[in-house]
Amino acid sequence: MKILMDKIIYVDHSATTYVKKEVLDEMLPYFTEKYGNASSPYKIGGENRNAVEKAREQVAKAINAEAREIYFTAGGSESDNMIIRGIAYANKTKGNHIITCKIEHPAVLETCKALEKEGFEVTYLSVDENGFISLDELRNSIKDTTILVSIMFANNEIGTIQNISEITKITKFKGVYFHTDAVQAVGNVNIDVEALGIDALSMSAHKFYGPKGIGAAYIRKTVKFTPIITGGHQEKGKRAGTENVPAIVGMGKAIELAAANIESYNKKLMELRDYTIDRILNEIPYVKLNGDRKSRLAGSVNISFKGIEGESLLLMLDMKGIEASSGSACTSGSLDPSHVLLAIGLKHEIAHGSLRLSYGECNTMEDAKYIVDSLIEIVARLREMSPLDASEM
Ligand SMILES: *Cc1c(COP(=O)(O)O)cnc(C)c1O
Repeated sequence: MKILMDKIIYVDHSATTYVKKEVLDEMLPYFTEKYGNASSPYKIGGENRNAVEKAREQVAKAINAEAREIYFTAGGSESDNMIIRGIAYANKTKGNHIITCKIEHPAVLETCKALEKEGFEVTYLSVDENGFISLDELRNSIKDTTILVSIMFANNEIGTIQNISEITKITKFKGVYFHTDAVQAVGNVNIDVEALGIDALSMSAHKFYGPKGIGAAYIRKTVKFTPIITGGHQEKGKRAGTENVPAIVGMGKAIELAAANIESYNKKLMELRDYTIDRILNEIPYVKLNGDRKSRLAGSVNISFKGIEGESLLLMLDMKGIEASSGSACTSGSLDPSHVLLAIGLKHEIAHGSLRLSYGECNTMEDAKYIVDSLIEIVARLREMSPLDASEM
């Protein structure tokens, strides 16, 4: 087996992306000569204020929101917290019931669990084998006390894109707020919050070639919410803290680039994705594709290889210079299989043999070929060594 490689192939863009050169160039002056505080009254403060407001416009435009409906946060997790808690606390007198689903990111699931301890009631909708919620189950779960429905736009593990416009038809009709964790979708899917009837949305810049530690919450101007981070009057008094101006500027540039290139980016990633999925399904026995085949993020591949351990697979891929993610355990070293794979009905031992590849801008067809060729070789070797019989799983 060839171990030495001249190149690292990064296929974990759902975990994070690098900062594009054009993005970094826009950010740099705000660390040095343009260091002012955006709240200060003098010239250098004003320059920073203008830079923040320009970025707010860029973010708003990308999702067809108004600039005043965008709040900068420290990332996707904070946006999820701010929106879910903020809406829950502000609307307590109307009701205490929240609906979400079982395959959400921990930033949503753990926030909902914490709210349960505070007296809120949460319904966790199940999903089908492709990761879709049931619209009937959603409709039947909404009651008089329901204040918020929070369903992710696209899943970070299996790539399934929910039918958001059908979901919002229901939430609008029932008069409850709809939030979506769109951290995986922004930059990958065209999103129009007006056309889709979304009331609140979370995004994070490092998933679309912007810096880490910066994100935004879109909250429709008519939505009642309570601030979570209290302090100064930044972000219209809704999110205190001196603005992270370099990161905000970077996020604005990154989302502008992403929105402008979304069609060509998707086309390229889909070719890599479909090539990879087709070849793995055709050339490796005892495999299962996870997530919907059609309504799926352009760069997302998630496959279970029966009879092998995802961790060993990752290690052997790493030795070949391929950096990917296991669909089975999270990076925390937890041995529990992914809650997402279990929710779509995989048995524990099958979930453990899962691999997530997420393609991005830096990948080529040559990479995809090398990945599939390597997988064919590695999976055969691991199966030879495995005590499990893939054909009996
Ligand atoms: C990455 C991710 C998050 C968390 O975003 P951070 O900016 O890392 O806090 C939340 N939801 C989804 C779906 C994600 O993929």
